Amino acid sequence: MPKLSIVIPFYNEQENVARLCKRLFRVLDSLEESYEVICVNDGSNDKTLPLLLKEKDERPGLVVVDLARNFGQHAAIMAGFAQCRGEWIITMDADLQNPPEEIPNILDAFRQGHDLVACVRMNRQDSLFRKWASRITNRLMTRMSGISLRDFGCMLRGYSQEIVAGILENPEYRTFIPALAQFFAKDPVEIEVSHEERAAGDSKYSILKLLSLQLDLLTGFSLWPLRMLFIAGSFMAFLGLVLGSAIIVLRIFLGSEWAAQGVFTLFAFMFFLVGAQFFALGVLGEYIGRIFQAVRRRPPYIIGAIKRHEP
Ligand code: UDP
Ligand code: MG
Repeated sequence: MPKLSIVIPFYNEQENVARLCKRLFRVLDSLEESYEVICVNDGSNDKTLPLLLKEKDERPGLVVVDLARNFGQHAAIMAGFAQCRGEWIITMDADLQNPPEEIPNILDAFRQGHDLVACVRMNRQDSLFRKWASRITNRLMTRMSGISLRDFGCMLRGYSQEIVAGILENPEYRTFIPALAQFFAKDPVEIEVSHEERAAGDSKYSILKLLSLQLDLLTGFSLWPLRMLFIAGSFMAFLGLVLGSAIIVLRIFLGSEWAAQGVFTLFAFMFFLVGAQFFALGVLGEYIGRIFQAVRRRPPYIIGAIKRHEP
C-alpha cells in the first residue's frame, strides 16, 4: 500500500503531460514515502491519453483512469479518489500552476497531525479578472457558507484517507471538492504555496464554465441566495406599501387629475417588481434543477478504463 496518492485531472493537456511527470516524479522520488500517481483523463480529445499511457509504461506507480467523456474537473477528481489507496491524498492541476515542489510542505503539515491541508496561492499568476473574481468568491463564500477558507479555488490540497472516504460516501452529482473536504475535516490547516503561470495550453474554463462552477459552489454550500430572495421580497413589499400610501395621500390633497399623471410611476414600479419576480424564479429554478439532478442519482462520472503499470 502506498503512503501517498496524488490525483491529477487532465483535460486536453498534451503539452503538459511529459513536463509535469518529469517534475512531479523527481519530487516524489526524493521523498522517503511510497507513492502512487492517479492521472484521470477527463475525456480529452487531443493526445493526452496516449501520452499518459506512455508515461504509465515507464513509471511504476502511475495509474491512468480514463473517463468515458468529459465530466468536469471535480467529477474527474472524484473518479481519482475512488482509486486511491494512500493514507495521504494530494490533488493538483496538470498545467503546473501548482508546483510539485510544494508537496513536501503539505506532507510536513500531515506529519504535524492535520487531516486537511488547504493551500493558499501566493503571487497568483492568473489574469486580473480571475484574481478579482476569486477575491469576491472567497469573501462571499466565507460569509454565506460559514466555511472559512482563504483560497477556495486552489486545487493543490492534501486530504487524509478519512476525508476522501467521507467525500466518496456522499457522491454529489455536481460538487466543489475544496468546500466539501472542509466540511469533513477535523483539524484543517492552511499553508501558503507559490503559483506559476500555466506551462502550456489555455485555461479549460470559459466564462460560462466558470459561472457554472461558481453556481455549484454557491448552491452546493449555501442557502443564502434563497434567504436573500425573502429579504429582497420583503423590502420590495414594504416599498410598495409606502408608495401606495403616498399616492393615496397625494391624491387626497392634489385631486384626481394628479393621479392620472402618476401612471408612469406605477408602471416603472411594476416593471421593477416583474423583473424582481423573474430573478426570484431564476434562483428557485437553479436550486430545483439541482435537486432534480440529485434525486435522479446519476453517477457523477463513468469510467472507460483503468490502466496500471505492468512490470
Ligand atoms: N480540467 C478537467 N476537466 C475539465 C476542465 C479542467 O479535468 O473539464 C483540469 C485541467 O486539465 C487542469 C485542471 O482541471 O488540470 C485545472 O484546469 P485549468 O488549468 O484550465 O483551470 P484554471 O487554472 O484556469 O482555473
Ligand atoms: Mg490552470
